[in-house]
Amino acid sequence: FELERLGVHDSVSAVFPPSELETFLADLPVSVEVVDDDGIDACDAVVTRDYHEAMLECAWVHSIQAGIDRFPLDDFEANDVALTNSTGIHDRTIGETVAGYLLAFSRRLHEHVANQQKRRWDRPEWDEAFTLPGTTACVVGTGTLGRGVAETLGALGVRVTGVRRSTDPVPGFEEIYATDDLHAAIGEADFVVVTVPLTDDTEGLFDAAAFDAMREDAYFVNVARGAVVDEPALIDALESDAIEGAALDVFETEPLPEESPLWDLEDVIVTPHCGAFTRDYFRDVGGIVRENVGRLEAGEPLHNRVV
Ligand code: NDP
Repeated sequence: FELERLGVHDSVSAVFPPSELETFLADLPVSVEVVDDDGIDACDAVVTRDYHEAMLECAWVHSIQAGIDRFPLDDFEANDVALTNSTGIHDRTIGETVAGYLLAFSRRLHEHVANQQKRRWDRPEWDEAFTLPGTTACVVGTGTLGRGVAETLGALGVRVTGVRRSTDPVPGFEEIYATDDLHAAIGEADFVVVTVPLTDDTEGLFDAAAFDAMREDAYFVNVARGAVVDEPALIDALESDAIEGAALDVFETEPLPEESPLWDLEDVIVTPHCGAFTRDYFRDVGGIVRENVGRLEAGEPLHNRVV
């Protein structure tokens, strides 16, 4: 199709100012404009965070997120609308976020920050702090996020194992397990890090049995999607000391409801789904959009096409 008008939907403002992307793409040979819901109709293509029904009239929709679980894929297919996503850009951001969680747990930084708010000079018990070299992290999902986590943790001396659907090796991972062997894989880890997409197969993958399989002194990290985890089972595991702690960027319900016990549990770090935030986000997304506008002009298949 002929691309004439590319909209930047204002829902991207949850991650960066839409005008930054508009300016960044201004040199493209198409008209680029920030649009609200009413403006979608007039576009052939939109870059967006949220789904809106009017997008089914476009020829191409680009998601600024890697996860496409909020888009009705069958409707895209039925209406012949191309959907592309932003996988490939979150390796370093998520890798550093996860490294930050692990360093907080090992060096007790989250406790110091909490104590500082209360002007309290409290030292950890003698046996609470530790160092990362020699610990093992099992990373479930070995795509962009998983590889970024493996690279960052590897540099800190952490031994990294991975879980994916096949057992083909992946650079940066010392050992790879198939999803069928998930419990064996996570059973030996000091840290379990979830980086899989939310699909029918991964929904509720981390249930009571998975938390049972984890070591009692292990930490659980979720930077994927809330629904990959059975949240009540996680809360049970934390409250009963079946696991040591958790760092969570994503939740079943977002924003995390005020009454959730997760806010107050010891050794739980809550971050508001911003593990991939960076002031360069619009440039990283813009790079994919620019590449795909070029491909459309050249009649080549779109990069990161999902539907
Ligand atoms: P990729 O597509 O690059 O990687 C996904 C990986 O998951 C693949 O390597 C795949 O490996 C593996 N996988 C898929 N299904 C299963 C399964 N059933 N069991 C085990 N492994 C599986 O995606 P990204 O790494 O870019 O993103 C992953 C997800 O992370 C996104 O879908 C999104 O939901 C979330 N995300 C969260 C962010 C945040 O802000 N917290 C930021 C970015 C992404 P294989 O094919 O070998 O099974």
